[in-house]
Amino acid sequence: MRILVTGGAGFIGSALCRYLVGEAGATVLNVDKLTYAGNLASLREIAQNPNYHFLQADICDRAALDAAFAQFQPDGVMHLAAESHVDRSITAAGDFVTTNVVGSFTLLEAARAYWSALAPEKRDAFRYLHVSTDEVYGSLGADGLFEETTPYDPSSPYSASKAASDHLATAWGRTYGLPVVISNCSNNYGPYHFPEKLIPLIILNALHGKPLPVYGDGSNIRDWLYVEDHARALLTILTRGRLGEKYNVGGRNERRNIDIVRRVCEILDRERPIAEKREKLITYVTDRPGHDHRYAINADKLETELGWRARENFDSGIEKTVAWYLDNEWWWRPLRDKVYAGERLGLVAET
Ligand code: NAD
Repeated sequence: MRILVTGGAGFIGSALCRYLVGEAGATVLNVDKLTYAGNLASLREIAQNPNYHFLQADICDRAALDAAFAQFQPDGVMHLAAESHVDRSITAAGDFVTTNVVGSFTLLEAARAYWSALAPEKRDAFRYLHVSTDEVYGSLGADGLFEETTPYDPSSPYSASKAASDHLATAWGRTYGLPVVISNCSNNYGPYHFPEKLIPLIILNALHGKPLPVYGDGSNIRDWLYVEDHARALLTILTRGRLGEKYNVGGRNERRNIDIVRRVCEILDRERPIAEKREKLITYVTDRPGHDHRYAINADKLETELGWRARENFDSGIEKTVAWYLDNEWWWRPLRDKVYAGERLGLVAET
């Protein structure tokens, strides 16, 4: 299968490209603009694989997309390119509207033009996966789970822009017949996660004896999924999901932020002991505006209909993740230096 992946140099996109080209035996064209979040070092292990191709391009650039479709002739699209950091969306929402809304629209149009000109048998087999987030559903109280039927109620400029793009993808399916399927996933964690996000930020700050900033009282709850489980889910949904449907993806691993921070401290105290317990580094900071309290996914549809199951639970996944950061300073050191040299020292975010 030939798959055009957008955003393949990002956190989830790079895990997906490694999985597609490695285990799944697909041929991939990774189309990525290489914003601050894109990093070709995350693709080092497949960079020389003849089934992996890279094109630096903006998904808002229709001409570049048309050329990519024409030359690569994909059987499917997996669209992950996005501005993804909630805190950045609060201070610079324009980039989120441009990439997440206008870029997603531009990609849909390029895909539609390519797909509608395909020979009938290729046209029937073609599929377009729009990759999204559970944040489009807004915030949960103490009970309940996000279902595929939960009404959209986004809180941040990030989630609002993702919600808009989900609606565009649905409309392109209903109006033009483009074979679209949508996935909405909970928070991912794992290797190659940019050091401004909660788990890598906490691991690296704790390792360096720096403050561990936690929003509010740390009681916000997220439902965590190991990134490699997400990559498998995405290929499952692309190839076997019902067209016009959406699938929630999650690992039934709800955790309070503060508990995650404490768990990371415990692991590091065990692996890299220092005089004091690292929990002492926890610093509560003013809560993020519009901070959703709880996200939790019901992934029954994906599990029962398509047979996908998460392989990692949070306890095993967080051990693997901390171990990966301890072993891969070559990857995170340059990024962390950049984050610390920049105008902002990452506050805590969950996505
Ligand atoms: P990321 O920020 O790590 O990576 C985004 C990638 O998109 C980067 O490589 C960046 O260079 C690229 N990109 C940004 N703007 C672009 C543009 N205009 N044209 C081409 N490429 C561009 O993001 P991520 O965490 O890997 O998320 C990937 C996708 O999955 C996003 O659509 C996000 O909404 C969704 N998602 C993320 C999570 C999560 O927990 N991280 C959960 C659910 C869904």
